[in-house]
Amino acid sequence: MNIIFGPVNSRRFGKSLGIDLSPSKKQCNFDCLYCELAPAPVMDAYEDVISVEEIMNALNNILGEHQDIDALTITANGEPTLYPHLSVLMDEINKVKGTIQTLILSNAANIHKENIQESLQKFDTVKLSLDCASKRCLKRLDRASSKIDVENIKSGMLAFKEKFSKPLIIEILFVKGVNDAEEEIKALNEYLLRLKPTRIDIGTIDRPPAYYVEPLSYEALRAISLKFDASLPIYIATRKKVDIKASSYSSEDILETLKKRPLTQEDIDVLFDAKSKNRLQVLVDNGLLKIENSSGYNFFVQNISE
Ligand code: SF4
Repeated sequence: MNIIFGPVNSRRFGKSLGIDLSPSKKQCNFDCLYCELAPAPVMDAYEDVISVEEIMNALNNILGEHQDIDALTITANGEPTLYPHLSVLMDEINKVKGTIQTLILSNAANIHKENIQESLQKFDTVKLSLDCASKRCLKRLDRASSKIDVENIKSGMLAFKEKFSKPLIIEILFVKGVNDAEEEIKALNEYLLRLKPTRIDIGTIDRPPAYYVEPLSYEALRAISLKFDASLPIYIATRKKVDIKASSYSSEDILETLKKRPLTQEDIDVLFDAKSKNRLQVLVDNGLLKIENSSGYNFFVQNISE
């Protein structure tokens, strides 16, 4: 039973470790069509619960071996906020972590609950999923437990954001023909304008899914990103970029494109040919564009003070 996984090195997080709060089996209140884990019945509470002591022993052992860990991600084969001792566990982790940054990845199904919000306050970064803004979509895509209501998720996130001053990242996973309709994107856009998260990662299926569903292409994700308000900090998080042919952008095209949607260095690498990259650099050097960091990602944006 592997409670700790890693360390792995990533450009964004540095050297990081993961903690799996449900190492024995999938325990989740969703059964998403796109889940990387096999389909499983939904549950509202963990059936198999490992002790805080067991987790801390495993963590302390590995921190003893690796003194240069930068980040610690709390996750699960399932939903980590269903772990009943999450708050106590975070108190213990916070006693030993030093400068290590902590991150949790949650489906947000219980974010309206006071005790869950209190536990999440104990992290340095919170990343919440929000695939759907409507009840029908949540039922179809995330196949949630009947007790879960999308309106509670949305109001819970707003209440949490009020209290949480550290980075709050929203992740939307788009599935072809399921949550990529105009109406759903419009509803997500309206809601996210109210929420004002630190960053919004949009992606699609990257690994074999639990059920037969299809991913979107990078072009389709980019088209979706343009449907959101230009003020929203959207990052296209997908590995499916390889088929794109780099294009030529004039300086005016670059300014116009970035007015609609800030781009990351990764986007630039995919979309821009070599000459366009040089033009982009000239615009940065001349102060017409600037680079803004949002929780680990650099975005090229228009310098509106110019
Ligand atoms: S919330 Fe995560 S673990 Fe649970 S079913 Fe969805 S993708 Fe799988």
